[in-house]
Order: sequence, then structure tokens, then C-alpha cells
Amino acid sequence: MRRLTKRSHIQAVAARWENQYENRLSSPLANGVLPKDILNKLRALDLDTCTAEDVTDIVSPGWIADVCVECEKHAPAGIMFAEDRELEGFVCDACLEKANHLRWETR
Ligand SMILES: [Zn+2]
Repeated sequence: MRRLTKRSHIQAVAARWENQYENRLSSPLANGVLPKDILNKLRALDLDTCTAEDVTDIVSPGWIADVCVECEKHAPAGIMFAEDRELEGFVCDACLEKANHLRWETR
């Protein structure tokens, strides 16, 4: 399992974009923008210091958050479980907190 934070998502955004569009970097998206132009904008950011807003000016907020398997909301921070297996799933901090309380229920 691995901790994910807003910063870890930001730091990974350019590499994730490149992976997703690696064979289609010159094929226009539905909005007419080329994926390679977006990649160049992401690479121009300092991903160690830029803000989430800097990234979402370029790509949608979904790129700096994962969807929690429990509450189904986009959340920037939480734990990714079982990344090396097909049952991979992300659980957000709010749901981890609830789970921690449930641990102590005895009935
Ligand atoms: Zn959740």
C-alpha cells in the first residue's frame, strides 16, 4: 500500500499524462487541443512547488485526485491498496478515518 497526497498526484501528473497519451500525443482531443501541447505545459511547471490550481488550469481536477472505492468521491489524499494486483483500490482519508473507528466496534 502507498500513501497518496495532493503533492504526490501533482508530481505524477506529467508522467501519467504521457503514459495515457503516449501513442496519441499528436491526435487532437475532443476540444481540438493536442495532448503533446498539454504535456509541454505540464512539464513547464515546477511540480514540486506549483499549486493544484496551476495544474487544473491545464488539465481537469480528476488528474490530481483518485476516486475513493468507498465513497466514490474524488479525493487528493488517502491510501492506494493492492497496486500490484488487479483488485487495486484507493481509499480516501475520510473513509480511512471511518474505518479506524469501525475497528473498535465489538458487536
Ligand atoms: Zn472515501
